[in-house]
Amino acid sequence: MGEEKDILVFAEVQGNNIATNSLELLGEATRLKLQLDQNTQVIAALLGENIECFADELFGYGADRVIYCNDSKLAVYRSDTYGDALAKLISEYKPLIVLIGATYLGMELAPTVAAKIKTGLAAHCTELHINKDGLLVQVVPAFGGKVLGDILTPIHRPQMATIKAGITKKNEFSNKKGNPELFTCEINGFGDRIQIVSINKSTSTRKPLNESECIIGGGFGIGGKENWSILEELASLVNGSTGCTRPALDEGWTEGEHTMIGTSGVAVSPKVYINAGISGAAHHTCGIKDAGLIISINRDSNCPMFTVSDYKIVADWKPIFISLIEKLKQG
Ligand SMILES: Cc1cc2nc3c(=O)[nH]c(=O)nc-3n(C[C@H](O)[C@H](O)[C@H](O)COP(=O)(O)OP(=O)(O)OC[C@H]3O[C@@H](n4cnc5c(N)ncnc54)[C@H](O)[C@@H]3O)c2cc1C
Repeated sequence: MGEEKDILVFAEVQGNNIATNSLELLGEATRLKLQLDQNTQVIAALLGENIECFADELFGYGADRVIYCNDSKLAVYRSDTYGDALAKLISEYKPLIVLIGATYLGMELAPTVAAKIKTGLAAHCTELHINKDGLLVQVVPAFGGKVLGDILTPIHRPQMATIKAGITKKNEFSNKKGNPELFTCEINGFGDRIQIVSINKSTSTRKPLNESECIIGGGFGIGGKENWSILEELASLVNGSTGCTRPALDEGWTEGEHTMIGTSGVAVSPKVYINAGISGAAHHTCGIKDAGLIISINRDSNCPMFTVSDYKIVADWKPIFISLIEKLKQG
């Protein structure tokens, strides 16, 4: 049906909403479209049961076409059924590019689909653009974040990429309208061999990092779990949250991927980001590019973190945070 010219965005339904990440990808797709053939269209692909109601929102945020697959087998997400349906939809419409949000669902669905349709996948991209040959340049940090690699998919189609929430921007909502198109296919999953026994949603009292105006960030230089409580205390005194790097998370000083900032964590935009013991790998700094004031403390005067900081303090972090806490407590 298609001819490898369109950009398809997987529109993920989260509860009663389209995921913000998917709306951001529609914005990214409309920007990429301007760098491609003038006949390129942005297609939003919706999977689920009774999901046609989301079409207006997708048109409003930039979709030229909305294609939906409405099936009771898609009522609850499963990688086998969603993977099969999305692979079939892609095979039918033959887009040039497929973009999927790097949400928990997307991080499973994207490689499942890429393997089924036998194409490449660049995961956790920090930037996308079209090169002079019309190929999608998928920028991904490599070698521990020290290098930004340009990944191309020169032969196989579609070119597939995932991007985390907060890395790209959604369009202003417009009153653009359209008629959603129904796509039907036989969905082959693992049938009864997989059964949803129960769904337990985790609850958290923490303010989401991407809603915090002040973030206290800590990296491997914090040195231990007992020190992490100092960051938590400082964060609560400024009504903020703590964020971390990959090593701090892996060491178990803080819990949950949602506390990690960067390509495989969250992208944040606080007014103030005070951080300590973070070297400044691209995997981390791409998650703070929309932060306001960045104040960094590091013992190493040459650390890359200082190149993206407004204030650089070459020192041991601990005495500084402790005296800051004392001052804040004194009012
Ligand atoms: C595929 C992939 C995805 C990744 N995704 C992410 C991601 O999303 N987010 C992320 O953060 N990382 C991610 N990483 C890891 C990333 O590449 C870096 O390894 C990581 O960010 C480094 O963390 P760090 O700065 O805490 O540790 P280090 O690089 O070890 O730096 C520690 C810093 O602490 C300083 N220091 C030590 N002691 C003190 C002290 N007492 N006072 C002050 N400063 C001190 C040191 O000078 C040093 O600069 C990813 C890696 C890969 C391969």
